[in-house]
Amino acid sequence: MDVIVIGCGAAGVAALRKLHDAGLRVLGLEAADRIGGRICTIEYGDSTLDIGAAWCHGEKDNIVFELAEPLGLLGRPDPHDSWYVLSNGDLAPDATCKEILANIDEEVCKSHKNNVQSISQFVRNAVNTKETFKQFPRLTRSLLEVYERNNHLGGQDDPQHGKSLKGLDEHWPCEGEFLLNWRGRGYKTLLDVLLNKYPDPNEAIPVQILLNKHVECIRWGTSQPSHQISPLVQVKCTDGSLYAAKSVIVTLPLAVLKETHAQLFSPPLPQDKINSINSLHYCVLDKIYIEFTTPWWPKSAGKFVILWQEEDKAKFTKEEHWITEIYGLDPVQHQPNVLLAWIYGKGAEAMEKVSFDDLKAGIDKLLSIFKKKFPVTPVKSVLRSQWASNLLARSAYAYRCVATEENGASATTLSEPIYHGNGLPLVCFAGEATSYHRHSAVHGAVESGFREAQRLMDSFGKTNVKPNQK
Ligand SMILES: Cc1cc2nc3c(=O)[nH]c(=O)nc-3n(C[C@H](O)[C@H](O)[C@H](O)COP(=O)(O)OP(=O)(O)OC[C@H]3O[C@@H](n4cnc5c(N)ncnc54)[C@H](O)[C@@H]3O)c2cc1C
Repeated sequence: MDVIVIGCGAAGVAALRKLHDAGLRVLGLEAADRIGGRICTIEYGDSTLDIGAAWCHGEKDNIVFELAEPLGLLGRPDPHDSWYVLSNGDLAPDATCKEILANIDEEVCKSHKNNVQSISQFVRNAVNTKETFKQFPRLTRSLLEVYERNNHLGGQDDPQHGKSLKGLDEHWPCEGEFLLNWRGRGYKTLLDVLLNKYPDPNEAIPVQILLNKHVECIRWGTSQPSHQISPLVQVKCTDGSLYAAKSVIVTLPLAVLKETHAQLFSPPLPQDKINSINSLHYCVLDKIYIEFTTPWWPKSAGKFVILWQEEDKAKFTKEEHWITEIYGLDPVQHQPNVLLAWIYGKGAEAMEKVSFDDLKAGIDKLLSIFKKKFPVTPVKSVLRSQWASNLLARSAYAYRCVATEENGASATTLSEPIYHGNGLPLVCFAGEATSYHRHSAVHGAVESGFREAQRLMDSFGKTNVKPNQK
């Protein structure tokens, strides 16, 4: 075997495709009983629901857009309005809310990015000191909370883990539509494209991917006698199976590496890589899909933003606190009876732990707020994601926090391979967390898979092959 790819999410599948096209012998080892990782599309009614990634974020320089758009796979969002709902059920003034959010955004845009400060610290300070925000203090406080949750800023409990201003400057969004959907097919279509199963499943590339292969140890030889093993990299799974290859590409999520790197790698990883694993951070983001008997929201509603006020939060018990962390309800394209509730951070972790009955009761309590102004219909079913509890993900995505900057850590260090003495990359690293400019998104993950495949092709003396030249 030339290359083993460990983990078959977007990064792993992208790497397998490119290496296969270059004529290398490749094998994918995936711990779950499906490929896709944080891309997880399920059939739901006549359409699908995405439990993880759902949208292609942007067009320019976006590898997912480049792969999917020529095949006509991407759809644009319907025009929509945001509705701002106070936690007592009243509607907040739309124009004022939009203006406050725009002002917060503007403050962040014009801030000095070259300092070790979290975005959250910065916006909180701006909101407390700038005149613009003093006119509507209660509304501003609620909108600040929405801004922090919606942008997954982190750092409220531990400022060291807040997204850094510097990282914001070096994260490159792709220009163009941010919410391109998969026309009801779901994000897993990207995996079909990468494996050449779309449009014709008979044309799928014959690449071997073994499921239920949980890798527990990756061993390689070094110049030290105690580590001289052959062939160069050996991979052991929890079921006892062993595989060997000239090189491996590890695509495990940052949060999984944090938990497992000490047992996973033999010899241990170099200190600078461990520093990056420990110092980069990750966020938890969950989705709760709520299906109703019939839709009750106005056709124009693209989003309900929930503005929590302290006195309304106090009506919830400690066990119910997670409900007050839900910050938005969105209609779902191609699912006319479904709303998507967003929950993030500690609230998401708490939501994952409540029983299913308590989840449904909590959703009913949340919806009672909406009954003041809307004819809310009965709930038919509820479906939640549990990414923090998922041992193979533990997170939604990685980001640069204050500790990352302070400790001199980076996605680039994380992405550096471990070389054999003669310069052969033995253990390579891909996955969204290893993307310096495009971490957090699927397009960053795919790019990273292609990047590491190219690295190995260069080292094996293989040239690029376009799919239609095979
Ligand atoms: C709720 C949510 C919403 C999101 N929304 C979007 C969105 O709309 N657009 C967007 O671009 N991005 C979105 N993201 C982020 C996006 O899903 C990720 O950035 C991307 O899917 C990561 O791909 P990856 O290949 O780097 O990692 P993963 O997809 O996590 O792949 C890693 C693989 O490794 C496997 N694995 C783990 N441990 C082992 C082991 N020991 N042995 C073998 N295999 C192992 C896992 O099962 C997994 O398949 C979202 C994420 C979440 C959770």
